Amino acid sequence: MRGGIMSKIRAIQIAKPGAAFELVEREQPRAGRGEVVVIVEACGICHSDSIAKDGLLPGIPYPIVPGHEVAGVIDEVGEGVVGWQSGTRVGVGWFGGNCEPCRRGDLISCQNLRIPGVNMDGGYAEAMVAPVSGLVRIPDDLAAADAAPLLCAGVTTYNALRHRGAQPGDMVAVFGIGGLGHLGVQFASKMGFRKVAIARGAEKAALAKELGAHHYINTEADDLTKELTALGGARAILSTAPDSKLTGALVAGLSVRGASIIIGLGSEPIHLSALDLVVGSRTVKGHASGASIDSEDTLNFSVLSGVRAKIEKMPLERVAEAYERMMKAEARFRMVLTMNPAKP
Ligand SMILES: [Zn+2]
Ligand SMILES: [Zn+2]
Repeated sequence: MRGGIMSKIRAIQIAKPGAAFELVEREQPRAGRGEVVVIVEACGICHSDSIAKDGLLPGIPYPIVPGHEVAGVIDEVGEGVVGWQSGTRVGVGWFGGNCEPCRRGDLISCQNLRIPGVNMDGGYAEAMVAPVSGLVRIPDDLAAADAAPLLCAGVTTYNALRHRGAQPGDMVAVFGIGGLGHLGVQFASKMGFRKVAIARGAEKAALAKELGAHHYINTEADDLTKELTALGGARAILSTAPDSKLTGALVAGLSVRGASIIIGLGSEPIHLSALDLVVGSRTVKGHASGASIDSEDTLNFSVLSGVRAKIEKMPLERVAEAYERMMKAEARFRMVLTMNPAKP
């Protein structure tokens, strides 16, 4: 074990909004009360990392290390930590404090949410500090690079699907087959839903089938609503594509009391037809990812069912290239940075 003995680590920081990624050497951070130091083995790159890169939220403490899909091993354990030991494999989820939603058990709606890479240093580094409330146990059978993307893209899609009231055999549609959607289709498949994948172009049909979709709808060629209605209407639509126009139009393809769940962030407003909502008592709702225990459920379910993100790995120092592939939607399908810490 390094045991918290001060040593240098490499980290990628952003000095100010819009600045380039910068490889720096820092002292290894120390664990405070209720915290641990995680030696990072892999960190996924997520579209939300643009929040830190471009300063899209107020109050980001620059210079900041981005990255919130963190998988590694506990190194140092801070004072007052119970139940977590040095050497335990962990991921880092999003976690909160003691505000009103937290006290009501709605942890993901925390108003003091501490997000690695947004209001504290994240995982584009060889080590980071994390509060124990955010820790996620990684099952033995899951490699760090496979666990990383499941800690944001995975938990978001898994949690959105399992809380929607759809039963095995019900039809669930996934709109978009990208970083989120390719996981959504797999989770829907393993949960026993009849699945429809919806994406642009005929060429994604084969991939959709490979991921477990029973039906494929091409947004360029097909009449979406007509196709979905012909299949019986979707009990739930997981909307992962940042396409506000189609997200709104798809509501008409829901079944009676069906729900459209928005997790993809389109920049345009979503237009909804009141008639489509009222006839059939349909709903449209947003869904935030999940608390750290939801992330742990996601990892366990993924091991049980064989769901994995398709990933491209790159070493930490190639962060700029990896980030660009993600931003240009060229990644197939999640980019993961890997680190080479001194092994315990
Ligand atoms: Zn994310
Ligand atoms: Zn809170």
